[in-house]
Amino acid sequence: MPQAPQPQPGIMDIDLYVGGASHVEGVTDVIKLSSNENPFGASPKAVAAAQQAATKLHVYPNTDHASLRAAIGATYDLDPGRIICGAGSDEIIAFLCQAFAGPGDEVVHTEHGFAMYAISARAAGATPVVVKETNRTADVDAILAGVSDKTRLVFIANPNNPTGTMIGGNDLRRLARGLPDGCMLVIDGAYAEFVEDYDGGAALATEMPNVFMTRTFSKLHGLGGLRVGWGYGAQEVIDTLNRIRGPFNLSHVGLAAAEAAILDTEYQDWCKSENTRLRAQLVAGLDALNLPSDRSEANFVLARFADGDEAAAADAHLRGLGILVRRVSSYGLPAALRITVGDEPGVARTLAALRSFRDTQA
Ligand SMILES: *Cc1c(COP(=O)(O)O)cnc(C)c1O
Repeated sequence: MPQAPQPQPGIMDIDLYVGGASHVEGVTDVIKLSSNENPFGASPKAVAAAQQAATKLHVYPNTDHASLRAAIGATYDLDPGRIICGAGSDEIIAFLCQAFAGPGDEVVHTEHGFAMYAISARAAGATPVVVKETNRTADVDAILAGVSDKTRLVFIANPNNPTGTMIGGNDLRRLARGLPDGCMLVIDGAYAEFVEDYDGGAALATEMPNVFMTRTFSKLHGLGGLRVGWGYGAQEVIDTLNRIRGPFNLSHVGLAAAEAAILDTEYQDWCKSENTRLRAQLVAGLDALNLPSDRSEANFVLARFADGDEAAAADAHLRGLGILVRRVSSYGLPAALRITVGDEPGVARTLAALRSFRDTQA
């Protein structure tokens, strides 16, 4: 019998992405704090737009995403011609790897960097190269030292997932300036909206042809289920990525909801300020339980336990109480748990559960 072909080199080296858990056997009142979703959901205006769009499910979406790109451009004062939309920013990351990195090329990311960088690099046949962080924070000198003449892309999430830490604008600029010709810095701004006075790398990407910014509607905007993200960079880079983008990569439901979401700045501001307030509550509660964390700029906190066993026991205890958080052993952080900032009752319940976990240890 004829056999199926073998996969391309690199494909079988990919570790399957494991998403945050979403249910617990026998527990009904579950709070999911494992995927950095918006605890308040999407803007009611985005929900209404999606419902309206649902009356036209038989119609193909437009292919140029012009209306959404115009709304994004107007919001952030960016040229819509230099924006590309994808099925989540994950798809933009995949396009970048597919277009710019292949066999023999290297893709650099940091020690506790987002899993999709290595997955997409390998899928494109390229080799992921991991560089050390310092105190769970990207280290510009270590990244520059990890770049070789084979490096085509350097990915940095700023703030980073799962650490929550970020580097400042001067460091980002130093990194972009320090890269050799033919190597692009990709600043993943999935959590940029949560940070005060931060443009996600937009100004740098406007100015420098070797800087690209990715953004998403999945986090602050609460549209993870619809899969909408975008990228912004040099015109030639956008033109390149558009050649491999499927013409109908976004649904018109996603397009309509995302456009309504980005225009609802009042809802965004409210979600952002609630996140800041509730994150402070969560961090203070963790501190009181002797669970240190780095300063988080995002909508989650990385709580550090004594060791991997203690983190696993805490995870199991929380799970038993219907609270799902994220183990991050696959990110090289076995002794930590990543906890999404919930709504007020969610934060209170998480802290009460961790308090009762400490009691079991006494
Ligand atoms: C969640 C996340 C993304 C992408 O999410 P999409 O839903 O694909 O837009 C990208 N980067 C980081 C660091 C993330 O945490």
